[in-house]
Amino acid sequence: MTNSPIEKYLEDIYKRFIKNNDGQLADYIPELATVDPDRFGLVLATADGQVYKYGDTSDEFTIQSISKPFTYGLAISDNGFDYVDRKIDVEASGDAYNEISLDADTHRPKNAMINAGAITSTSLIRAASSEERYERIRDFFSKFAARDLSLDQAVYNSELETGHRNRAIAWMLKNFDIIEGNPEEVIRSYFEQCSTLVSTEDLAIMGATLANNGVNPISGEEILDSSIVERILSVMMTAGMYDGAGDWMTSVGIPAKSGVGGGILGVLPGQLAIAVFSPLLDRHGSSARGVAAFETISSDLNLHIMNVN
Ligand code: GLU
Repeated sequence: MTNSPIEKYLEDIYKRFIKNNDGQLADYIPELATVDPDRFGLVLATADGQVYKYGDTSDEFTIQSISKPFTYGLAISDNGFDYVDRKIDVEASGDAYNEISLDADTHRPKNAMINAGAITSTSLIRAASSEERYERIRDFFSKFAARDLSLDQAVYNSELETGHRNRAIAWMLKNFDIIEGNPEEVIRSYFEQCSTLVSTEDLAIMGATLANNGVNPISGEEILDSSIVERILSVMMTAGMYDGAGDWMTSVGIPAKSGVGGGILGVLPGQLAIAVFSPLLDRHGSSARGVAAFETISSDLNLHIMNVN
């Protein structure tokens, strides 16, 4: 029941790419291997709050790494640029999401999109307890989505039981005095952050809020200062797609962030956000159907940020 040309277009994309069965379900978090691989949702939300959608757009999935740019923004809002920049660099690492890499001299993680940088962002959220820390993160994400978001307890438990590599990264960061507080408590908040449930529509509205300079176009609430939004989008552009960032920038050309839950969020500043969800992942850990759909949408609608036509 589509009635706008944009929704008709999204329906065409859905029908074309639902046949693409490339990729695999994430299995390193056991609970993520239990989802239906055929789910596919596409949403385009404009910076002034128009929402166009097709497919499984209200099904929930865990936000995973798409949480990272938002928590980074909250960390800067809590501590200021100088403080956060002394802890997390802004270099394009070209690293895989879970790379155990820190700068040789400063020991800073290369950016806030790889796990080492993201765990550091989480540690910088000001709170009296780890419960309060996640509550602040969940509340912040909810403001971006303009609705109350919740935690997927099963995915959280699964990450808590199996996320030894992330736990090791947290302890290594502690060794170099990069993260503050107890690494075990920080890693719990990080797993909770990643296990927050969103729909494709939520993601698109979160992205539209970034596209609209930090003001949520649905609720009207001003959530983040525009200088922080500019920083978030810069880091998404250079490092949001990990070791696939160069490929993505040349073929899609939209600042973006993917997560192993199957979501991809792309944001064009001042214009719009596109969110795609489909759980089969490519070798970089990004939704395979999502990447294919983004390539076609960007080319059909002339959205590449370097294309001035
Ligand atoms: N919670 C996942 C991890 O840290 C997120 C990874 C991702 O989405 O890329 O391993």
